[in-house]
Amino acid sequence: MDASPILQINNIEVIYNKAVQVLRGLSLAVPRGRIVALLGSNGAGKTTTLKAVSRLLDLEDGEMPKGEVRFDGRDVRHLAAHELVRSGLSHVMEGRHVFEDLTVEENLVAATYALTGRKAVKADFDLVYGYFPRLHERRRGLAGYLSGGEQQMLAIGRALLARPKLMLLDEPSLGLSPVLVDSIFDIIARINAEQGVSMLLVEQNASVALSVAHYGYIMEMGKVVIDGTSQRLKADADVREFYLGIG
Ligand code: ATP
Repeated sequence: MDASPILQINNIEVIYNKAVQVLRGLSLAVPRGRIVALLGSNGAGKTTTLKAVSRLLDLEDGEMPKGEVRFDGRDVRHLAAHELVRSGLSHVMEGRHVFEDLTVEENLVAATYALTGRKAVKADFDLVYGYFPRLHERRRGLAGYLSGGEQQMLAIGRALLARPKLMLLDEPSLGLSPVLVDSIFDIIARINAEQGVSMLLVEQNASVALSVAHYGYIMEMGKVVIDGTSQRLKADADVREFYLGIG
């Protein structure tokens, strides 16, 4: 088996509008088959890191982040976002972005076509509904009428249709009740274990993220300040005080 990380980021720098430096030499790795949490306070640059990987950065034409992004063994900084999806990288964005005027099932059909270039087949629906039975119940309802948690399920389900090797997840807990957060994270852990999908997980909710992640990075002001196994981070006094809120 290939022992290289599925994702390796080396010394990434991102400057918005040629003026605001948001990432300052950030490096991290996601080993194959693992869940890695990327934590840190508001504005630390977590979302920007995911966008630098998936090529969704809002930079001026032709501008590139500095540094190296290696996905599945190759430098992908020059690939377009849709080429990256085809090579196995799915980005589940904050805010979900489902098509509100389409039904749940139509969202899945559209996503299959957009992500893979082929029509959806039974195996596609089975894959998504197997993890999210609630979406099966709501399959003929408009996505715009789903609850926040159900829309999050749809966003993750849609990303699954591309059969990704790596999923980038941006704040899956955002705006959800504690019960729903637990159930979404259970499913994230199952998708990782059963489908072998590696994951880079951005979260404000550090304790829930570290409950499913194998490894974690904490970033501040655009670079990594602490990293370690989830177990080590959960035992670290500073992490407990500043990120987990337990003194
Ligand atoms: P949050 O948890 O609040 O989303 P974050 O760690 O994900 O925070 P980012 O969203 O990456 O942080 O933002 C980092 C900084 O970059 C913030 O100060 C933000 O205002 C700034 N920023 C983000 N996107 C842009 C943009 N398109 N143009 C200019 N500045 C931006």
